[in-house]
Amino acid sequence: MNNKTPQDQPTPDTTHPGDIPAQQFRESMHRAADMIADYLEGVGEYPVVPKIEPGDVRKTLPAAPPRTGESLDAILDDYKRLIEPNTTHWNHPGFMAYFAITGSGPGIIGEALAAGLNVNAMLWRTGPAATELEEHVCDWLRRMIDLPDTFRGHLNDTASVTSMLAVAAARQRVREYEIRRRGMAGRSDLPPLTVYASDQAHSSIDKAAITLGIGLDNLRRIRSDDGFRLDIDALETAITADKAAGRRPICVVATAGTTSTTSVDPIRPIAELCEREGLWLHVDGAYGGSAAICPEYRKLLDGIELADSIVVNPHKWLFTPVDCSVMLVRDVDTLKEAFSVVPEYLKTADTGATNLMDYGVQLGRRFRALKLWMVMRAFGVEGLQQRIRFHCELARELAAWIEAEPSFELSAPVPFSTVCFRATPAGSPAAQDAFNERLLAAVNAKGPVFLSHTKLRERYVIHAAIGNLRTTQAHVEQAWQLVREAYREIAKG
Ligand code: PLP
Repeated sequence: MNNKTPQDQPTPDTTHPGDIPAQQFRESMHRAADMIADYLEGVGEYPVVPKIEPGDVRKTLPAAPPRTGESLDAILDDYKRLIEPNTTHWNHPGFMAYFAITGSGPGIIGEALAAGLNVNAMLWRTGPAATELEEHVCDWLRRMIDLPDTFRGHLNDTASVTSMLAVAAARQRVREYEIRRRGMAGRSDLPPLTVYASDQAHSSIDKAAITLGIGLDNLRRIRSDDGFRLDIDALETAITADKAAGRRPICVVATAGTTSTTSVDPIRPIAELCEREGLWLHVDGAYGGSAAICPEYRKLLDGIELADSIVVNPHKWLFTPVDCSVMLVRDVDTLKEAFSVVPEYLKTADTGATNLMDYGVQLGRRFRALKLWMVMRAFGVEGLQQRIRFHCELARELAAWIEAEPSFELSAPVPFSTVCFRATPAGSPAAQDAFNERLLAAVNAKGPVFLSHTKLRERYVIHAAIGNLRTTQAHVEQAWQLVREAYREIAKG
């Protein structure tokens, strides 16, 4: 009998403090898969928002970590008992606040597989499949929204980071500033740089201005028109005034699907103005970019093909688990010039390869493309279009019910799947605002739905966003019924 252990099967070393045994991992992972499947099937039974106060979750947890390891079964039991019920359920069909999202089944599987590989795709060499799949899924999205092949794409965590990188690329293009070498501090020799976005643009653009040293004073918030779309004449006037005052305009951010009302700025005239003025055009399509995979919604984004950079968030409305933000850039070399720093220990001989670390701030990059790839393949372009169209139809139905109800009004047009509305009881504008605030709190306290709010022209408005794959017409009807019920209760006093 040969007692020798073959070289490829080393003797198990029971003293070695390694990972958990494979069999234990397999069993716990199967249990976790069952738990996720059960959760997704039954998530609608929970109130969308847990009825807890800040600090309640920590109170249930031991002050110190366990001294010795615990069984995975016990930890999973605690997950089920302490974590799952104390979560705000973004995967709930009644979640209609902010922008509703979905961590779909295929996306969840992709996320789990990515965790298994645990790749850090900073260089092509350290993650060839992750790098190339990332470029590839971004290229698929580019095709899906009918953009020319001059755009190159990669993934970031969020639209906030993507927009910040875009404004950084715009700043890099102003060569005489030598931003990389000289920075922004103490540059009294040069005129201040200015950036433009509408008064409806997302707060991430303010953060980009803060982060990049442009400063909020140099971010021009251009007034929007009656449809909450950037006023092109006001934009032109602001740019002209800044140039006359010796400032240096560098970038316009147009939004395709603003956060409050999902309005779309007039992208083509903005692009033409940017072209004339030599300005970088960044399009924030974090939400609306997803709808552009349907030709009828792509029309609303006419001119987006002229942008210098675009952000679309599959983690918003392409059913991909958080986080996943696509950045598409026409002049990718300028973005690379802005950020590429290659120390000795990161040099490779792989010429012609994309090294993702060159296109942003972070070195480490996780394998985000896998989940987007799974989603795109499992649903297909037509499946994704069908789902987006269904959400938009539900929103139009809700808008029609609101319009037919004398004590309510629509507060903005409904181009996609988000509806802004308010109750209009008799009283001053301030009293109406207070009424709507109470109305929203009363609806959300009931449990089955979660709506949010915004302010439009200083007035308090309720915001219902449909975007979860589990949301059906019955859920939207229920939301509307709860709103009307709450109205009657508050009106009674
Ligand atoms: N842009 C728009 C239009 C948004 O609505 C949002 C968030 O809702 C963002 C950017 C920021 O997205 P992220 O959370 O990915 O940074």
